[in-house]
Amino acid sequence: VGQQAVACATPEKVAACAAGAPPSLPEAVRLAEYRAQGGYALAAALAQGQADPEAVLKAMEDSGLRGLGGAGFPAGRKWRIVRDQPAPRLMAVNIDEGEPGTFKDRTYLERDPHRFLEGMLVAARVVGIDACYIYLRDEYHDARKLLEAEIAALQADPPCPLPLIELRRGAGAYICGEESAMIESIEGKRGEPRMRPPYIAQVGLFGRPTLEHNFETLYWVRDIVQKGADWFAGHGRNGRKGLRSFSVSGRVKNPGVKLAPAGISVRELIAEYCGGMQDGHDFYAYLPGGASGGILPASLGDVPLDFDTLQPHGCFIGSAAVIVLGHQDSAREAALNMMRFFAHESCGQCTPCRVGTAKAAVLMEAPRWDQALLEDLSQVMADASICGLGQAAPNPIRCVQKYFPHEIA
Ligand code: SF4
Repeated sequence: VGQQAVACATPEKVAACAAGAPPSLPEAVRLAEYRAQGGYALAAALAQGQADPEAVLKAMEDSGLRGLGGAGFPAGRKWRIVRDQPAPRLMAVNIDEGEPGTFKDRTYLERDPHRFLEGMLVAARVVGIDACYIYLRDEYHDARKLLEAEIAALQADPPCPLPLIELRRGAGAYICGEESAMIESIEGKRGEPRMRPPYIAQVGLFGRPTLEHNFETLYWVRDIVQKGADWFAGHGRNGRKGLRSFSVSGRVKNPGVKLAPAGISVRELIAEYCGGMQDGHDFYAYLPGGASGGILPASLGDVPLDFDTLQPHGCFIGSAAVIVLGHQDSAREAALNMMRFFAHESCGQCTPCRVGTAKAAVLMEAPRWDQALLEDLSQVMADASICGLGQAAPNPIRCVQKYFPHEIA
């Protein structure tokens, strides 16, 4: 994970950003090209009454598309819930992409920004949204310049009446990827998760009903509506449906974003999409969902990767950031790294998480783990933390205890 971050921020890129250099993204599909390929026809048809919003909503529901930021809530159902709330309604788009190992949103954004923007406009039209707030990870300098330029181009020559579109910069806090913390941050406050209920679909941004989506969820809207719900739902493997964009890193030959069938196993993903393991490394373990999704051993490398399939093993797929470890790596070292990350990124609002993650990190540094104490701490964090950060923080501990006992004995 550390190597991935370093690779993204080369000295040349940092220097270019500091000098205000234009984005170096020649491969991005710009507005004219996107339109020439039929882009914004759906958004325009909806605005002109030539497309039925109910049919679009039905396609979203039938596709089975789920929130691809990690929570996995069915997208079509979310549209319907927010649409049934009183106006004015707002939208908040999460491109904070702070989960370690996740880089799919950035990859798509830097190549095809209008596919996402059209998805956002379609959602806004169907749900009845007055204003869209896009929350972008501040480290994505080139993507921000590209998005600013393309939003300006869109506003200068709109294909349909546009809602208010505001681009907000994050400030590097992992917790602002949590939807309610992001909303607090957009409102100009400290990014701390809210207690729920009320849910943000009812009381969200500036106190209004809010449709919150991850970037990638909106990115697929145009394709789902134009190609049909069956196109999306027709993909899948091992009994699962849909497509997933896996951010694969670690000891594989060809890391990167891999668009693969939902339900593919990590073993299949490595063999078919990543060119196998790096030379000199045997498959030992994997993180199926970034830092918070836990760690599994190679012996569970045939489990389908999807929402709901990993829970029986104490893990989850989250934003589909798959980090592959080899035999020369250590699961306990990876778990310690994650716990230090959680301790650093805890917003500090609640004691089980603020104190628990810091205390766990210290306990995990011991040559032999005090397993009873760590389990006690894990239970308190899982039961009493306000948000998913504290609730998921014990996952790495529990996975190491369950699957890698030889590393901590
Ligand atoms: Fe903040 Fe952690 Fe509590 Fe979440 S669980 S509200 S990150 S202190």
